[in-house]
Amino acid sequence: MSKKNLKLSLTTKIMLGIFLGGFTGLVLKYFLNGPDASLANNLFIVVNIGSNLFMNALQMLVIPVVFVSIVHGTLSLTDVIVLGRVAAKTLGIYLITTVIAVTIGIVVAVIIGPGRGANLESVSLYKLPESKPITEIISSIIPTNPIAAMANGDSIQIIIFAIFLGIAIGLAGKKAKAVVNLFESLNAIVAKLVDCIMLLAPYGIFCLMANIFKTIQISAISNLLVYFLVVLGVLIFQMLITYGILLKLFTKVTPVLFFKKMKEMLIFSFTTSSSNATIPVTMDTVTNRCGVSKKIAAFTIPLGSTINMDGTAIMQGIATVFISQAYNIPLTIHDYLLVVSLATVASIGTAGIPSVGIVMLAMVLQKVGLPVEGIALILSVDRLLDMVRTSVNVTGDCMTACVVAHSEGEIDYQIFNDPKAGESAKDIDLHRMHDKQ
Ligand code: ASP
Repeated sequence: MSKKNLKLSLTTKIMLGIFLGGFTGLVLKYFLNGPDASLANNLFIVVNIGSNLFMNALQMLVIPVVFVSIVHGTLSLTDVIVLGRVAAKTLGIYLITTVIAVTIGIVVAVIIGPGRGANLESVSLYKLPESKPITEIISSIIPTNPIAAMANGDSIQIIIFAIFLGIAIGLAGKKAKAVVNLFESLNAIVAKLVDCIMLLAPYGIFCLMANIFKTIQISAISNLLVYFLVVLGVLIFQMLITYGILLKLFTKVTPVLFFKKMKEMLIFSFTTSSSNATIPVTMDTVTNRCGVSKKIAAFTIPLGSTINMDGTAIMQGIATVFISQAYNIPLTIHDYLLVVSLATVASIGTAGIPSVGIVMLAMVLQKVGLPVEGIALILSVDRLLDMVRTSVNVTGDCMTACVVAHSEGEIDYQIFNDPKAGESAKDIDLHRMHDKQ
């Protein structure tokens, strides 16, 4: 089979997985209330196992991909000054875009007023979820034990250790040549590992979609329709307009082509609701499809998937305004400014896994003096919004990678301008493994 055919068939299979999975979920959910409930239940158990296996397979890739690509990327950024400059630009863009995101969210929510008229009174219904204090998060970014950091899957700690290791290998010069070669090989191996897992994507996505359609309460949306639409509208605005303008201003990337190239990655972020689990696909998208150099991608993507959560910040900002309106607790300008900074910090502290954004919202509400049980109001629609905000989160990472890469002359526009570039990245000839480079 030619490369093109194989790729086309994988994409088609993924699309089929989405639709058939969603349809299966709806059908099984229907039978859950009928005489065939036990069969439907058993089938849901199988689907659940399939979802867990696929999510685990994606998570399994995260630490090797993050660790190997950051060490490898830092190695190629041998000049520590260049590394510092790239880090400063990346962090700056992440911070500014998050502040823009939450500000737009708050302004729109204040104007539209999704919570007005609910007239709720505070009673303690919702148990405060555990969330780490921000001071603790900041002081633990440097690992005391890098092996423990890997065992615990602590992305920030792994990123910091990998950067230090990469710098040290670079500084060791000729004596570290063997290790440089080792990381070259590991980098190639990890890329193939990702390709192998991608072959399972259609089946994994089928199971995820079936599961999602079981848990999502479509009827809940109608109750919270205005809140849901405001969050959705601002998420789409951030993705298409804010990112589109930034790309237009700071790169030579055509926004329309950029968004087309995001398509496959968005399927993963949407179905997994996890920036973290999407890292391997995001890396593949920015390097092979958008032409961003591996060294810039290796730095911006894992970091962004851990700390850059514009979509999450939007939800947290709008949810805070919604809850204040629903409980008739007016917020002052000072409170709004506090919400902007708190939502920015909370989104940085949000791990790139499903539903953590809503847990971190508790911190924002507490600090502004709003009832934390207000979270219960929006919980029913959060699963669906999580899928969309995760997609915004990862698109923000890709946009930043392009902007930083452009400013460093590290984006290959020939690759970017080729609509088909990177499409055949998943060709694996399983019969001739040893002959391949
Ligand atoms: N699911 C989001 C992500 O992984 C985080 C969140 O907002 O819950 O990016």
